[in-house]
Amino acid sequence: MPVSGVRLNLLGQDRESMEAFFTDLGEPAYRAHQVMKWLYHLGVRDVHCMTNLSKALRTRLADTTEIAVPEAASDQVSADGTRKWLFALEDGNCVETVFIPDGDRGTLCVSSQVGCPLDCAFCVTAQQGFNRNLSAAEIVAQVWLANERLGADTADGLWPGVNDSRLITNVVFMGMGEPLLNVDNVVRATRLLMDDLGFGLSKRRVTLSTAGVVPALDRLASLTDISLAVSLHAVSDELRSRLVPINRKYPIRELLEACRRFIAKDRRRRITFEYIMLAGLNDGDEDARRLARLLRGIPAKINLIPFNPYPGAPYHASPSRRIDEFREVLIAAGLMTITRKPRGQDIDAACGQLAGRVRARVPRRAQAPVVELHA
Ligand code: SAH
Repeated sequence: MPVSGVRLNLLGQDRESMEAFFTDLGEPAYRAHQVMKWLYHLGVRDVHCMTNLSKALRTRLADTTEIAVPEAASDQVSADGTRKWLFALEDGNCVETVFIPDGDRGTLCVSSQVGCPLDCAFCVTAQQGFNRNLSAAEIVAQVWLANERLGADTADGLWPGVNDSRLITNVVFMGMGEPLLNVDNVVRATRLLMDDLGFGLSKRRVTLSTAGVVPALDRLASLTDISLAVSLHAVSDELRSRLVPINRKYPIRELLEACRRFIAKDRRRRITFEYIMLAGLNDGDEDARRLARLLRGIPAKINLIPFNPYPGAPYHASPSRRIDEFREVLIAAGLMTITRKPRGQDIDAACGQLAGRVRARVPRRAQAPVVELHA
């Protein structure tokens, strides 16, 4: 054991910290690359099996490091093939991770926090309260475990590689939590997702979704160029502040200005705006026209999300005809717009249905006002 008694978790260390670790051991930096390949390209988590390392180094790693992955407390498959895991963390909290297969595409929806402090009015995660941020390792572990589980169920039962055989083609931070309130760990995790020695995903295939923590959005832009989705959901501050309370601190205008700054570096990119369709609240033609006006000048695409109901929900989903008509208005205004297909509703795996098991330290509505949140 190291002097501190704390083992270094090799999972979740990005390339730089892995190299630094091996250099400190007096090993060449390429040892870090060898270990990363075992971990992420081959799915090997037992250092004794890393046969291109000397026996002495393997013993040393076994004595001083760990490769910690959570247990799956549950594993459910929906009638539509969507799969949801509840991963048990060391401290007794659980977070949910969802895999959504769609033709050649396989999207993994990961959690960034245990619960969520934002208290959005329509989201089940909010009702769980908030406990803590996930570490980079806990975020990466969701991808690692999902990949292992998906591979185990294929014909050859092998770890899906990071080339043509990959099953997870996209990762979205749309699970439990607000990723921009945990920006350092999220960015560290995304580095591993995008590293060739990690999961090797392109920046277009890693998407962070935010309710709009403006200062953290600027920080994100300075750290990484992953894809961005913004949960807009309303076109007036009056309604948005009710639905997404962080709007009281960062109103629509400020949020959209931050979006413009985010995109300014790379005009080829687009921001996805998520817009949940709530019957009679935000789904009128006038809302659609106002939305188009608000987004003028921002390279955008719009994702209309049919509201996923849950017991006791104070809202209703817009009828599908209304959603179609709303979309038509946006398309006529020149905005690329799609309607998100609800997936995995029968196992509560759809947007806004992720509850996990949160030992809430900050229960809903008893928490400090949103304006006190630090980005
Ligand atoms: N906190 C981040 C990411 C998590 S939510 C964010 O707000 O973007 C992922 C998406 O699901 C968000 O757009 C969120 O607003 C949406 N969502 C939440 N509850 C929902 C529900 N009941 N039905 C449909 N979408 C929902």
